[in-house]
Amino acid sequence: MDNFTISDMFFGPAGPVFLHSMLIVIIGMTMFVSIRLLITRRKIGYLSMVVALGIFLLQYGQLVHQTLSHNTGDVQTFTALVLKVLAFVMMNIGMYQLYNVTRKRDIVVFCLSGALSVAAALTYWYAPIWLQSSEEHHALLRPLGMELYLFILIFVSFMLVNPRIGQNGKYQLMLTVYFVMHTVHMANLYLFNGSQRALDLLERTIPFAFHIVLFLFIFERVIELMQAIYISSITDGLTRLYNRKYFENRVKQYVQQRVPVAVLFSDIDNFKKLNDTKGHQMGDLALKKVAQIVKEETEDAGICGRYGGEEIVVLITDPDTKAESLAERIRSRVEEETNVTVSVGYSYYSKGVTAEELIKQADEAMYQAKTTGKNKVVGF
Ligand code: GH3
Ligand code: MG
Ligand code: MG
Repeated sequence: MDNFTISDMFFGPAGPVFLHSMLIVIIGMTMFVSIRLLITRRKIGYLSMVVALGIFLLQYGQLVHQTLSHNTGDVQTFTALVLKVLAFVMMNIGMYQLYNVTRKRDIVVFCLSGALSVAAALTYWYAPIWLQSSEEHHALLRPLGMELYLFILIFVSFMLVNPRIGQNGKYQLMLTVYFVMHTVHMANLYLFNGSQRALDLLERTIPFAFHIVLFLFIFERVIELMQAIYISSITDGLTRLYNRKYFENRVKQYVQQRVPVAVLFSDIDNFKKLNDTKGHQMGDLALKKVAQIVKEETEDAGICGRYGGEEIVVLITDPDTKAESLAERIRSRVEEETNVTVSVGYSYYSKGVTAEELIKQADEAMYQAKTTGKNKVVGF
């Protein structure tokens, strides 16, 4: 090891061992993130990704072992090929499952791809007789079935998986890198018989690009899921408005800083009657429409939330928005565009008032509107 150079790191006998070991570290990191995902989300679907990464680890582990033991027998070559195909299939199933709930139809497709993979693997041992010529050619032809099958898999992934998942840019990049990697491998093996150093180097370094993008893909998915959990914890499922707790916290935040905000409190009129006569579904629909109107009207003025059953509240933070005119716009649009009406109360922040008191004042004003005829706006 006296004259160990950078070049040896890539080309010498230690080259593949060094590069594959580094790959194993990257795959290990990806696996760590995936296992975290599997544990926290407890969805069996994420298991495929962990299994796929496990197979990638085995694949590169086996390559290291193969290099160190100088063993390139039939079984070794076959195992390497099977691991390569399996890892690719499982990774795609895993990616699909990261974005979709697995249905019966999907399981049929998974099984079909499994059966095709087995068929491709069998061509290694049962290559058609007419393909067999010299001993040397035979050794080259045997893996061809599985190698070509990988190209088909790349194409199928583009067609079937890509349209059904998120992060398409990253996924397409990954497939392209995989395609290039495989093409380089095929060219090196079949055109140059492994004689091209440059192709050797490419064949060993492209997997880094592939596994780094794979890591980023999974990492990004974890962030997406965490964001989705956060959003669902602060919003209401039916109306998609903020929930009461989040709304109250935001009001508190502004009031504590003595920002001159205002609060609107609206309640749908005679909602019980609508539910009783037209059914709960019609009621839900009306509520959603009202929520949408409030959302549109407050977009530039502040935030809105669902306070209770059919009570929608607004926090006006924009100093140029007048509470009364915003309330009136909401009231009149609800009257025109839906089959219900709303009563709205509003109140401006004044010194010494707490967030709870401010909301209560708007609620009291709304109650005034209810007791004096409904479908109107009243200030505190
Ligand atoms: P008022 O004009 O005085 O407000 O009369 P109201 O019938 O609207 O009375 P109130 O506000 O007390 O009634 C609220 C009703 O809203 C009770 C419940 O049946 C209905 N409700 C609450 N949440 C929902 C919901 O998510 N969906 C539907 N469809 N109905 C709801
Ligand atoms: Mg009501
Ligand atoms: Mg109510």
